[in-house]
Amino acid sequence: PNAHAASSHYTITTDTTFPPFEFQTQGGDYRGIDMDMLKEIAKREDFTYTLKPMSFNAGVQAVQAGQVDGILAGMSITDERKQTFDFGTPYYKSGIVMAVANKSKVDSLDDLKGKTVAAKTGSSGAMYAQRMAKKYDFKITYFNDSNTMYNDVIIGNTVAAFEDQPVMAYAIQQGTKMKIVTDPADGNWYGFGVKKGDNAELLKKFNEGYAKIVKDGTYDKIVNRYLGEGG
Ligand code: GLN
Repeated sequence: PNAHAASSHYTITTDTTFPPFEFQTQGGDYRGIDMDMLKEIAKREDFTYTLKPMSFNAGVQAVQAGQVDGILAGMSITDERKQTFDFGTPYYKSGIVMAVANKSKVDSLDDLKGKTVAAKTGSSGAMYAQRMAKKYDFKITYFNDSNTMYNDVIIGNTVAAFEDQPVMAYAIQQGTKMKIVTDPADGNWYGFGVKKGDNAELLKKFNEGYAKIVKDGTYDKIVNRYLGEGG
């Protein structure tokens, strides 16, 4: 695909599963805050898109390789990523928490010494874990998706996972047998990402559409749909 084509059809990638931002329904549709938001923005800005869900790490690379036009995947805007991505208007504030199995006695970074934790390849949670691993002397096993990562902790292969706070809290609320044991760290905002210097038109449309759905209350309605009032 030619990322420079002056077309109003785009390919956009998202994570395979990252509720409440993206998840697949029983019927196979992708829903969630990011997905509902994208649908409304496209409608208002008169563009169409093909959604290509893949692991977060693969999605990040697909944007850089020019295989897709953009990524909307609860992606954190970081200084490091700004070297290779242009980001849209920041839309949701997040941070990284440590979560353990319900019955675990591990409840701080200090308890991780000599143990192995779980993280998602290429995520800011993984980058945070890497930094903490040096300080607190633990190992990291990597997963491509959040569900597999949680399961590894629940079955006891790894003692903790590092995940985005809203995503971890939502999973727990939906029945994932884990608990959050730290306050959110490394707070940052989610943003729609395109390859740096590419797809300025798509980014502009996204931002204009986003401003419209914020203004008319649609954005709040979408967030409330998944997180309730004040989410
Ligand atoms: N917010 C995290 C990041 O940008 C995780 C995103 C994800 O796993 N979809 O790295």
